[in-house]
Amino acid sequence: MIRIHVRRKAFGDTEVLRGLRLDLAPGERVAVLGPSGVGKSTFLRIVAGVDRAFEGEVQRPDNIAIVFQEPTLLRWRSVLQNLTLTHPGLPEESARAMLRRVGLEAKAGDYPGQLSLGQQRRVALARAFVGRPELLILDEPFVSLDPALAEEMIALTESLIAETRPAVLLVTHVRAEAERLGERIVRLEGSPATLV
Ligand code: ADP
Ligand code: MG
Repeated sequence: MIRIHVRRKAFGDTEVLRGLRLDLAPGERVAVLGPSGVGKSTFLRIVAGVDRAFEGEVQRPDNIAIVFQEPTLLRWRSVLQNLTLTHPGLPEESARAMLRRVGLEAKAGDYPGQLSLGQQRRVALARAFVGRPELLILDEPFVSLDPALAEEMIALTESLIAETRPAVLLVTHVRAEAERLGERIVRLEGSPATLV
């Protein structure tokens, strides 16, 4: 069970979040819809444990993966190393199998800069799923993609979720994405923002 309670989050005098509660059962997929600037990324950083400067409590599993809007790959490491270096103890064979799964086996030795943006995003997805996370956090991972590429990425994400069965917390401002990937949709709104 994942339990999230954010009583208050502020940057200086500016209160961004207030009174948020959200529980996720194992394997549950929740989408958080909200407009740009409302506090979605701030909320996810708190859930992920990256931001600890808030009032409240988060009970989360140890094994978490995060996919950001931009693929945050290690530029000077190979595609394969982007998977293995971020998962200590991961057998190289498992990393190669995951690259095969996302259609990038032939790119294992390439550097991220040699890949197209779509391929880089597939590496980021492979890196997220290869550790079999109990909680997968997605921060608007499909924005700024053309419709065909977005569709390809959403379909790949859907099938990897079906195979791996993590709890999923997706934030997006696109309702269609929320409906596609979430089995439950909540909205983040207001200033300071809360979940409704
Ligand atoms: P969203 O992801 O929904 O677009 P964010 O969580 O990025 O929104 O931002 C919510 C609000 O918090 C915005 O007003 C933003 O300017 C502010 N904010 C985010 N990060 C910081 C920061 N590190 N310092 C000050 N203000 C911030
Ligand atoms: Mg954001």
